[in-house]
Amino acid sequence: MNSNTLNFSGGPGALPDTVLEQTRQAIAALPETGISVLGMSHRSEWFRALLDEAEHNLRALLGLSDDYAITFMQGGSSLQFAMIPMNFAGKGFAPPEYVISGYWSKRATSEAAKVWETRVAWDGADSGYRRLPALDRLGIDHSTAFLHYVSNETVEGLQFPAYEEKAPVPLIADMSSDFLSASFQADRYSMIYAHAQKNLGPSGVTVAVIKRSLLDRIPDGLPAILDFRTHVAHGSNYNTPPVFAIYVLTLVTRWLRFDIGGLQAMQSINERKARRLYETLDELGDAVTIHADRQWRSQMNVAFTFGDPRLDDAFVSVAREQGIVGLEGHRSIGGLRASLYNAVTEQAVEVLTGALAEFCRERV
Ligand SMILES: *Cc1c(COP(=O)(O)O)cnc(C)c1O
Repeated sequence: MNSNTLNFSGGPGALPDTVLEQTRQAIAALPETGISVLGMSHRSEWFRALLDEAEHNLRALLGLSDDYAITFMQGGSSLQFAMIPMNFAGKGFAPPEYVISGYWSKRATSEAAKVWETRVAWDGADSGYRRLPALDRLGIDHSTAFLHYVSNETVEGLQFPAYEEKAPVPLIADMSSDFLSASFQADRYSMIYAHAQKNLGPSGVTVAVIKRSLLDRIPDGLPAILDFRTHVAHGSNYNTPPVFAIYVLTLVTRWLRFDIGGLQAMQSINERKARRLYETLDELGDAVTIHADRQWRSQMNVAFTFGDPRLDDAFVSVAREQGIVGLEGHRSIGGLRASLYNAVTEQAVEVLTGALAEFCRERV
């Protein structure tokens, strides 16, 4: 196995071998057009068809009706942090409510607070961001503009269960690190956004799924590029979009639909991967500490530590000798993190669990 296969990075993350192979060819020349994907015009028929396919594949994977618009944008999830309150707060609603459950939701909340008055529905700081609240028991004002949360806290390794009920207020979720990793009811949400670089492709493109009725709230006078209606009206081709990133994302959606067989199948694979790794870590007992409380453990990002930075660093080095990369924890909490994004295979997890067990036998 090579290091592309053994890439456990928190993001940009691993991509499927078949996608990397097709991308290699497309950089030389796309089979359909004979020229490099990097030189394809965003006004070409080829690109229009690509955007349509990307959208179609996402609709098929999510079972989404035309009540939702799907757009491909730039600026990453961080731009969404600012755009969402600009577009969807106000107009007679109570201030938007934000759940702070870790590093990324804290960032989303502080950015929103620069744009509009916001409320904090819950903050997990007291627990050191090791647990999550029950979203349906937050007791928030039903006239709020929306409730924002991060479905999977990438840094701390905490994940909310998918929201199953009909939400009493408009729900907006940053799904950057678990979008398309499992099947869920997308129509429970008013908006979902996810940049590509964790589960969907390379960095440079962000998917926003927006209930069309929410677009009616947008105030006039926003700069065009910051107004979601612009991107919807221009079919994600208002200014030059990231053609290359959208190309790779489309390959990933094809892979998910036709190689993996959809989100239910992806979910089963991801559940097995996470179970295997957590079981291994649990068997190591006191030698390791998993950051998340058991109930909230993420299927995507496993944050843990040997409790001593020297041991953590030693494991990173030992693992690298076997081709395993990307295990360093996020700079905000340190320690180790194994990200099990869609393209990380069960075989790769086997290699990692083997390396962990061996390291503990010999060093801890
Ligand atoms: C990585 C990450 C972000 C940051 O996204 P950018 O595209 O770098 O702005 C935001 N939210 C979550 C949940 C993330 O995992």
